[in-house]
Amino acid sequence: MLATPRLQGSTFPAILPPVPELPEVETVRAGAEPHLVGRRLLHVHLQRPDLRWPIPVAAVQGLVGRRCTAVARRSKYLLLHFDGSGQPVALVHLGMTGRFLVEPCAEPGPRPEYRNHEHWRFDFGDRLVRFVDPRRFGALDVAAGARLATHPLLAKLGPEPLAADFDGAFLHRATRGRRVATKQLLMDSQVLVGVGNIYASEACWRAGVRPGRAAGSLTKAECAALANAIRAVLQAAIAAGGTSFRDYVGVAEDAGFFARELAVYERAGAPCRRCAAPIRRAIHGNRSTYWCSGCQR
Ligand SMILES: [Zn+2]
Repeated sequence: MLATPRLQGSTFPAILPPVPELPEVETVRAGAEPHLVGRRLLHVHLQRPDLRWPIPVAAVQGLVGRRCTAVARRSKYLLLHFDGSGQPVALVHLGMTGRFLVEPCAEPGPRPEYRNHEHWRFDFGDRLVRFVDPRRFGALDVAAGARLATHPLLAKLGPEPLAADFDGAFLHRATRGRRVATKQLLMDSQVLVGVGNIYASEACWRAGVRPGRAAGSLTKAECAALANAIRAVLQAAIAAGGTSFRDYVGVAEDAGFFARELAVYERAGAPCRRCAAPIRRAIHGNRSTYWCSGCQR
């Protein structure tokens, strides 16, 4: 559903900047949860009727007066659950440059001026959620709680990489007969959600698998190693508070610096940390792919 965004003009580099991936969104979710759960949404302010897609204005305004019961995540969607009739859920996607900022504020009291590119606010009284997104690839939608799983943006998603239904056996089944490159398959949200370019490259390195290998050629052992590697890189990044891309981080705006620990991503020409061979880089489908020429097969 989230097709590769089309950039206008030629002012952007061919290599897209890193976008928030699962660990960044999980960091925002975990940071926002204690501030929002139990609080009542007092006002919604929409500065524009659309972001990447039209915003369902009436449904969003219908959240006013309800209490937030949970801040969850599915893939890279933040899910704000509310109580009352229909138990609606607000779906928020950060797109490429979105920030979901949660700020304390006095209630009652004056509200801060709008920032540049601040497109909507959820006012919870003594907490303010501000959505800032310069490039407007983000999204805001509302679903009835009972129909959340069949929402068009969520219905076709594969399993969560950190959930129990994702493991080497699953990956082995999912790759049979597939000629697509392993890294590309890992980034296919219908196979598996939340593994973007950075973490797919890192997981392939950890597992010793070349990212360009045909997915169908992976052995059971390699699938098990890849599944473990995907979990490990995501968990390490979540523990570090997402990567260093502080522009996407909400809440306190103080993301950790996981980037220093990356093994291959943006390390072209540098020595591999496992075998000292040079890290290679190639462009596949507008995305950089990194791998070690020595220890990835
Ligand atoms: Zn190596």
